[in-house]
Amino acid sequence: MIRFWLIALAVLAATGPVRSADRLNVVASFSILGDFVSNVGGDRVDVTTLVGPNSDAHVYAPTPSDAKKVADAKLVFVNGLGFEGWLPRLVKSAGGKAAVVTTTTGIAPLKLGSEADPHAWQSVANAKIYVANIRDALAAAAPADAEAFKSKANAYLADLDALEREVREAVAKIPENRRKVISTHNAFGYFAAAYGVEFIAPLGVSTESEPSARDIAAIITQIKTAKIPAVFLENITDPRLMGRIAAETGAKVGGTLYSDSLTAEKGDSPTYIAMVRHNIKALTSALSP
Ligand SMILES: [Zn+2]
Repeated sequence: MIRFWLIALAVLAATGPVRSADRLNVVASFSILGDFVSNVGGDRVDVTTLVGPNSDAHVYAPTPSDAKKVADAKLVFVNGLGFEGWLPRLVKSAGGKAAVVTTTTGIAPLKLGSEADPHAWQSVANAKIYVANIRDALAAAAPADAEAFKSKANAYLADLDALEREVREAVAKIPENRRKVISTHNAFGYFAAAYGVEFIAPLGVSTESEPSARDIAAIITQIKTAKIPAVFLENITDPRLMGRIAAETGAKVGGTLYSDSLTAEKGDSPTYIAMVRHNIKALTSALSP
């Protein structure tokens, strides 16, 4: 009888869920990256995301509990390209020992003004580079699980290939002269470069300041002059502004495009793949004649 239980236990240990003590403790700086890491790490990693759903990682203010999470983590996954300006101080206040993994390594950065554009994940081809970097960093940190990470990454990379095809097919259906939108947050440079949809920032508007009446007049002129068929709201700026612009120009208000963060589990973009699908659906329905 004892022998039977020993065998049963051995089988359980070999095939059962990974014990939490055996999981790799890692931190991801923001929700999209957290999703990538979860997809590659599966049940062999515990992922803590610092900047959660519906939050703006550009202007995040870390808390003392974030410093504790970073201090406890084996790896800290970041976007880099200037996205997490608050990160170096956080790593320092966590004791400075965290191994920071920059997941955009190997991606050719675009410019946003005079600086690097951090929103590289908006091209699905780039998302695959993030995933490869995450796979390699996890495998180096936990070599015993390297094969598991590789196989999870391969499955996810195949999903991203399918997603890339979906995006290209959807854009191909939009008439060429209608492939342009106004969006409040200039986060779609990589999407634009990869898929040929032009994203035009409303003149003088940023996520940090509310536009004046003069700004709004300039945007309205801009939409009429460039014959822009649609304007988009985002989950991190004031939607009332865009509603007013649409009313005065006749441009379609295309709903929400998600750029820098996922939604909560019950929202419409709780994962990266759901986010890209949501965005492409919103774009196609606003830009189709
Ligand atoms: Zn952004």
